[in-house]
Amino acid sequence: MNVLYLNGPVQNGVFTIAERPGKAAGIRAADALNTILEAGPAPHLWNTVTLAGDLRHRDAPDRGTVARQEREERAITAKYAPGATPAGGVLTDTASAVAALALEMTERLLQDGVLAVTPVAVHLCTRCGHMTGTVVRACRACGHQGSRPHTRRLLVWDRSPGTPVLTRDDVHAHRAKPPGHLLTIAQNVPEQLILSRTRDHGISLAPLGLDGLVLDPRASVHITVLAAAARLGAERPVMTVTDNAAANVAAYGAPFRRHNGTRLRYALHGRIPYDDITTLQRLCEVHRISLAQRELFLAWFLPLCSLHIRAGITAAQLPGLLKFWRRAHLARLNTPESDGPTELRHRVAAGDMRWVMDIRALPRAIPDHPATNGFTNEPEGAS
Ligand SMILES: [Zn+2]
Repeated sequence: MNVLYLNGPVQNGVFTIAERPGKAAGIRAADALNTILEAGPAPHLWNTVTLAGDLRHRDAPDRGTVARQEREERAITAKYAPGATPAGGVLTDTASAVAALALEMTERLLQDGVLAVTPVAVHLCTRCGHMTGTVVRACRACGHQGSRPHTRRLLVWDRSPGTPVLTRDDVHAHRAKPPGHLLTIAQNVPEQLILSRTRDHGISLAPLGLDGLVLDPRASVHITVLAAAARLGAERPVMTVTDNAAANVAAYGAPFRRHNGTRLRYALHGRIPYDDITTLQRLCEVHRISLAQRELFLAWFLPLCSLHIRAGITAAQLPGLLKFWRRAHLARLNTPESDGPTELRHRVAAGDMRWVMDIRALPRAIPDHPATNGFTNEPEGAS
């Protein structure tokens, strides 16, 4: 089968997972699915090539003593509980393995004529030099309104009219409806995509003669997934990602989803209403759900549910899901452990997520303890 779930690299902003559990949904879903597949542990993937990261670093009082890379690493460490690290480690979108793979893939795509380095008329911010793109707009790096036209050589993907950037087959799902709105959004991109950007931090394209430019992070997040898959010898990496994020990155990733027989597909997941958790906590008390069961519900079941309920879980669905969870826990006591793991693995590998709401299948998959994997300290007695 050789399927490995990997999270779509999460933007390394200023937050902890305890504060923003929704940010870890893709990571947690991937961890849970890999456990069932007996694959991994896979690294947690982080996206550090962001304009916000550039600005934070520029404005930081300690910028003279703390390098950008170190700042990103510290910010990632702070996402996890003190002293805890994920079992599979972390991988950022600028790691040396990712950069090496990115250059290898880009060079081959250039040789094959898929990509090109060509002069493009763009606009540069007159204050900071940030490339604002082919249309005139305020600088996203410094907010300055003024820009000047400038023609410079850039890495581009000129696709012929009608070439799809995303097809139904790019989504790893079993008998699921094709994500029509996503296909439409992804098609609605210019025929020429610029794949090089001005950023302070990223995979430098200087080896291709593009000094001062980095590979567009929307492309490099895909290469990060491929690099993680290569590390674990998985030829069928599946990237967990929300519809919105997929719509944002799919076009830029299109030339970078296949490499040496490996093909990346997306597993789409919906939003989880973690903001409405106070109501849920009250419900847990009413239904006498233990703290450990509640933690599993939040950090294990809901992320998996979000892959099944792709339109997004609503707050109104939470009580029903909690009741179902309680039933599954009770059923678990009467479920022989050896029964059916192979079938479950087949379904997980095929991207068939209906088992999550199947009262016969779910109890067999529930782990013994909350799958914290670094985000919180292990509860006492959980070893
Ligand atoms: Zn600027």
